[in-house]
Parts: sequence; C-alpha cells; structure tokens
Amino acid sequence: MLEFLDEIKGNVIIRVLTTGEDIYEAIKSAAEEHNINAAVFNMIGAVSKAVIGYFDMKKKEYLKNIFEKDMEIVSCMGNIARKEDGSIVVHAHIAIADEKGHVYGGHLFPGTLAGATGELFILPLKKKIVRKIDEKTSLFLIKDQK
Ligand code: ZN
Repeated sequence: MLEFLDEIKGNVIIRVLTTGEDIYEAIKSAAEEHNINAAVFNMIGAVSKAVIGYFDMKKKEYLKNIFEKDMEIVSCMGNIARKEDGSIVVHAHIAIADEKGHVYGGHLFPGTLAGATGELFILPLKKKIVRKIDEKTSLFLIKDQK
C-alpha cells in the first residue's frame, strides 16, 4: 500500500458530472485535459442509462447489456493508459444497483449517462502504462510500464 501511495503524483483530479453527461467521455476528456499517461480512478453516483459489456472470449467481442433507468453507481473504477501511438485508453468497469439493491455490472461503454450526480476522482500516477494489441483476445492489454 505504501509503495502504491508513493506512485501517486499528489494532484487528485476531482470532477463532478452533471445529469446526462457521458461517463466514459468525461473520464477520457479529463485525461486529455490533464495529459495523463497513467492513472487510477473511481466514481460513485448514479446513472440514468448504462451500457455495460461482457467480453465473450470465444467470439472475441463484447456482448452489451443496456439499462435505461435511474440506478445507483455502487462502484465504478478503472485505469488510464496510452497506446503505442500515444492515444489515451480508458478502461473502466461499473457496478450499478436498482431499487431493490440488485446489482449488475461489467465493462463500461460510452453511452452510459450520469443520473443525479457522478463524483469522479482521478489519481494520476508517475508511471507510464502502455497498451498493445493482444493477438489472442484482440484487445489492447497492458504490456509495458515504466
Ligand atoms: Zn473491461
């Protein structure tokens, strides 16, 4: 834990999302704005719509579940890295709960919209994390860190 804390730059980026804002795009634009090479983030709040994926290893593609209602964000977390060409990659997962407390979750896709609020905390890291295409999965996986 102390080693992890030592990797944190110290400048936590806090962004409060407004109703209807796209969560994935908000994380990505914050990363671009602050020129982030590597970071971890978390978010709580609510969604009014969610597009959540499950990666099918046989088909090598995401199956998507779409929820079009107000739900709580129990947890949204992930990391920010770069591809070899320098472009930013946001990898986020989300767990959302309905009025009965039933939780659904998976890989966060664009199109997931903030509900009442979204409290995003990004912790930039001193490291550089690089993602490269993985032949086996066709996904951009973490291949390098400095
Ligand atoms: Zn994922």
